[in-house]
Amino acid sequence: MFEKILIANRGEIACRIIRTARKMGIRTVAVYSDADRDALHVAMADEAIHIGAAPSRDSYLQFDKVINAALKTGAQAIHPGYGFLSENAAFCGACKKNNITFIGPPIGAIEAMGSKSAAKTIMEAAGVPLVPGYHGADQDSDILRRASDEMGYPVLLKAAAGGGGKGMRQVWSAAEFDEALAAAKRESMNAFGDDTMLVEKYLTQPRHVEIQVFCDQHKNAVYLFERDCSVQRRHQKVIEEAPAPGMTPALREAMGQAAIQAAQAIEYEGAGTVEFLLDSDGSFYFMEMNTRLQVEHPVTEMITGQDLVEWQLRVADGEPLPLEQSQLTISGHAFEARIYAEDPDNDFLPVTGTLSFVQTPEASAHVRVDTGVRQGDEVSVFYDPMIAKLIVWDEDRGRALGRLSRALSEYRISGTTTNIDFLYNLATCQPFREADLDTGFIEKHHAAIFHDTARDRESDLPLAALYLLLRQSQKVGAGSSPAVESSRRDVNSPWNLNNAWRSVEDNIHTLGIVLHETVYPLEVEQKQFGTATRYIIHHGGNTVTAQGVLEGNALRAEFDGYQFNATVAEHNDSFTLYTADSALTFKQASPDLGDTDHHDTAGGLLAPMNGTMVALLVAPGASVQKGDALLVMEAMKMEHTIRAPRDGHVVSFYYQAGELVDGGAELLEFSASE
Ligand code: ADP
Repeated sequence: MFEKILIANRGEIACRIIRTARKMGIRTVAVYSDADRDALHVAMADEAIHIGAAPSRDSYLQFDKVINAALKTGAQAIHPGYGFLSENAAFCGACKKNNITFIGPPIGAIEAMGSKSAAKTIMEAAGVPLVPGYHGADQDSDILRRASDEMGYPVLLKAAAGGGGKGMRQVWSAAEFDEALAAAKRESMNAFGDDTMLVEKYLTQPRHVEIQVFCDQHKNAVYLFERDCSVQRRHQKVIEEAPAPGMTPALREAMGQAAIQAAQAIEYEGAGTVEFLLDSDGSFYFMEMNTRLQVEHPVTEMITGQDLVEWQLRVADGEPLPLEQSQLTISGHAFEARIYAEDPDNDFLPVTGTLSFVQTPEASAHVRVDTGVRQGDEVSVFYDPMIAKLIVWDEDRGRALGRLSRALSEYRISGTTTNIDFLYNLATCQPFREADLDTGFIEKHHAAIFHDTARDRESDLPLAALYLLLRQSQKVGAGSSPAVESSRRDVNSPWNLNNAWRSVEDNIHTLGIVLHETVYPLEVEQKQFGTATRYIIHHGGNTVTAQGVLEGNALRAEFDGYQFNATVAEHNDSFTLYTADSALTFKQASPDLGDTDHHDTAGGLLAPMNGTMVALLVAPGASVQKGDALLVMEAMKMEHTIRAPRDGHVVSFYYQAGELVDGGAELLEFSASE
């Protein structure tokens, strides 16, 4: 077995690989960019080598630097993780040339699957079923359009070099074709340096079911069953599970055999995933093969009890597969939820920020957290915004789902917007419980997932008030300022709070709390019962009696005799309260209560995220109609189009293509027509 390996990756996957290597007694070398000097994967590795500036093309994609790092440290093998260099045949070749083992398939297999078009040609020849479509070499846009017209809409344009849902566009009618093709090509060129496209019939209600395969250097091949990854946004997976609900043994066997056939057609070695679309009538179609470890491999590990990274290392070292097909069995059910720095309420756009507070659910035999970040780390524009993967297991789907929602409710992050609440709503909605899955799940069940939370959010206002009252009484108790000293007699008096308090009548005071730009006035009466202070809080026609204990971040609250725990994280001028089913950020109103600005930022003419200007699509002065595309921005390799809010014209653009833009910056001056 190798004595030392280098991990050519970062984040959670680098950490996850290091854990297995350490368990097997293998020493590890990390590589890092300027942005990752203090990252967790660097701290976990035995050695680490700096390989360049923060942008991945200057560091993690610089394969000469990665190879030199391996040579310098004497690493015998390189694990590429996923993304970055993992499916790069030239890198695999460079490893070979330098006598370093690439922990992955042989070059030929990567090349064969590197292009979705070429892969489809090979699979067609091997008799694996394909989605109808065009995957030819002739890329003339007329030919692509004609293929789509003939197939009938909707169609899906896909980047042949694609991955991660990038360079992909649905086209619902011939009229949309040209704009969609241009966007898909641009996104693909930007992400992969190649804009070859293929067209597929767009199936409207398929499931994404993929098969984990493993092959060794001795021509043995097994499949480690399936994962259902139908729950997606932007064609990217959000929650995955294994086994697939409703899977029959016969279909599993058929899909497993087709996957092995696909792997053997390209003389595969190591871990690979064959992705299929499964139609409602039980037919399945090959989509692509990923020639690497997948993000969602942990759900397979949880139901098979195997460590797939250990399998990879053994196979790369020439050992036979650890188990034969007949020795592999499925036990229980597992879910993985991907926790992202992104804003589900803003089209899931990635966001950046410093993770000022991170509290993960406790790990156990049922709960696993794969992460590469710690409190204080930054989610930057340079890399994927995934913060962690939350993986749970239990004996059956229902119980595992219970574990998932509980663990999500215990996952607490501040400093950046995350999708945790969205995942919680998704995991607890009735259609997901019933496993009514297809790739349109999120759009189809939008109402159930994005249920109107404004009302239940307001119901947390008394809790926010209680926190402010307890915090203030602690500060007063600590007696730091002379003003406070002078009022020590009456330490819990609301008069000792800051001037956002306003007396309404004797002993009733108004406390202003800001939630989503709206100021809510709450009336509070304070009563002393021996040493205990109780607050009678009036809000929206309701009255509750509250008391509580605040210790650090932990708040034990009691409302009308009902006690529960919450966690609080303070930020510069706001605070977040986490309860079992929500995470809400509040502010205490400034002294001029009720006078908060109500800027309308919904016009869409502000940059929705930190990113780069890609293209200006109209000329200043030219008239445009509401909804027309004005410009395209890009962040984390995803494009976002800014559209005209009304009929009118652009007076001027403030950024040129290629320039960096801060999130929230004004992008252009727009003049609406009368
Ligand atoms: P990527 O490599 O970018 O992840 P895939 O080819 O794996 O792209 O497809 C990603 C997702 O897009 C699939 O899981 C599925 O939801 C959707 N998809 C892909 N092809 C089709 C199709 N022909 N019809 C409907 N949905 C599709």
